[in-house]
Amino acid sequence: MNGRESRRRHQGDRQRVEALLKDVSRTPAEFVEAVGAHEVWRRGNVAFVVPRLDDDLPARLKSAVSRRRRATLDGICDCGGRRHVVSATHVEFAHDPACDATDDNLVAISNEVGVPFRRWIA
Ligand SMILES: [Zn+2]
Repeated sequence: MNGRESRRRHQGDRQRVEALLKDVSRTPAEFVEAVGAHEVWRRGNVAFVVPRLDDDLPARLKSAVSRRRRATLDGICDCGGRRHVVSATHVEFAHDPACDATDDNLVAISNEVGVPFRRWIA
């Protein structure tokens, strides 16, 4: 396979994943199971891993974790950020840098409220 064929295949795989995520976004999110500090949810035949949202979290962290969960499941964040399919196996989320649901801001908020941060990043 030459470079052009490889790029075309990569683009096709990426577009198929984008179409799949768009399609499943029309189906309701269903809880599957809790796994440690995370939960597995599904929309259609796609699984999403989100941080568990405990009732006893400090309010600011609870709000940020809730935002992160919604962004992961819905593909769009309250900040206007959206999910981007980089490749068939790699999806990234582009939040506004000031959004509480970014990795860095979740860590900062966790540190501020004294709760270990690794739990919030899935
Ligand atoms: Zn965001």
